[in-house]
Amino acid sequence: MHRWLHPSEPRIQALPEELARFVLATPPEPGYLRLLRTGELAKRVFRAREELRSCKVCPRECAVDRLHAVPSEDPRADFATEQRGSARRVPSHIPKGTACFTGRWARVSSAFAHFGEEDCLRGWNGSGTVFFAFCNLRCVFCQNWEVSQLGEGRELRAEALACVLLDLQRQGCHNINFVTPEHVVPQLLEAVLLAAEAGLRLPLVYNTSAYDSMTSLALLDGVVDIYMPDFKYASPVLAKRYLKAEDYPAVARRAISEMHRQVGPLCFDRDGIARRGLLVRHLVMPGAWEDAVEILRFLAEDVSRDTYVNLMDQYRPAGAVLEGKYPELCSGRLTRERDELEAIGRSFGLWRFDHRWRYHG
Ligand code: SF4
Repeated sequence: MHRWLHPSEPRIQALPEELARFVLATPPEPGYLRLLRTGELAKRVFRAREELRSCKVCPRECAVDRLHAVPSEDPRADFATEQRGSARRVPSHIPKGTACFTGRWARVSSAFAHFGEEDCLRGWNGSGTVFFAFCNLRCVFCQNWEVSQLGEGRELRAEALACVLLDLQRQGCHNINFVTPEHVVPQLLEAVLLAAEAGLRLPLVYNTSAYDSMTSLALLDGVVDIYMPDFKYASPVLAKRYLKAEDYPAVARRAISEMHRQVGPLCFDRDGIARRGLLVRHLVMPGAWEDAVEILRFLAEDVSRDTYVNLMDQYRPAGAVLEGKYPELCSGRLTRERDELEAIGRSFGLWRFDHRWRYHG
């Protein structure tokens, strides 16, 4: 496994001048600590919890009551139900019409020090990653199908989730990295409040598909330190076919602009660890060249040319694609396309591209 070069090691080099303006001499404290001191964080938790009464936490706007969707005290009664024609197992207390199959408590698949994220997140001790189960999108190519669509995981109350965050901090992780959090923003806030009161001091990474509501983003304003949206498709036609959300491109554009407004371009501490800002991912997909170009154009022209971009080329057929329903997504590696895409992004004025795999073994 790759080992991050700690700055105390002799091979550390001086930063090029153009990068120095994104290095913070004194890294800011995580934003939620200020909100904790003023009492605003507790108010946000209250407002977010209210959103669960008739849920519009994400753009699906299902308007179902999740506030009272709690597991039975009797574990035998809380068996999962098989959905017709699907391997998805949905607990019996989840109300019908809930597109994310999640009730009062967040469902967590795993939590661990993750060394597979960008260098600036994983550092040398890993990114403290919390994978939430289920999702508000239906990406047919999802690389985490068992978690996002089948719901592998278990429900955790806010206290238990707060303990998970504190344990990741104890392990020395550089940040808390919430993966697929769009449908559990209230639960995330509840856990952050409890963990912050108990000593959490790590920056928060919001690792999202960008299918986020503006209400949720307003609740997260000043709480999240690093937004990491994955902008998937710019075309409503492709978004409808592959994500089952025709409005995804419009939602993602609005969300990413708001994220940038809140936190600005990605900034690092002197050790090269991201501390605040926006990091946009794009997984290069077969047959979506024009979408990828449009996403880069959007970032350069409508967000900022200083946007930090990770063009990912690790697409592999997965999820429903393996069932043969989407043969056009069955192609292999895309390394050449990724390089060409970066060149186009540079021609638009973007210049901060993540090069983890190239520069580090
Ligand atoms: S998908 Fe889930 S989070 Fe989104 S509106 Fe529906 S119930 Fe709420």
